[in-house]
Amino acid sequence: MSQASWKDQIKKKWGPHSHCPICGKAMPTDKQFCSQTCRDNYHNINKKKKKKGKVQMIFMFGMMAVLFVFMFVFGGI
Ligand SMILES: [Zn+2]
Repeated sequence: MSQASWKDQIKKKWGPHSHCPICGKAMPTDKQFCSQTCRDNYHNINKKKKKKGKVQMIFMFGMMAVLFVFMFVFGGI
């Protein structure tokens, strides 16, 4: 079986279809992910992104606080 015939079969079977955002596999449009593994991967990536954003926010606030203290100290002299 060649790659082209496999793709034609997918088209005939499902008609309009979407692709899995994780692995790019063709899947029915009513599904968000092709498999449970991809669903788990998606949520893991999101969790990591959120965590990283939070750390960056805390770091930014820390830097601002330090700058503010410096400005306060030098302004007071
Ligand atoms: Zn997938």
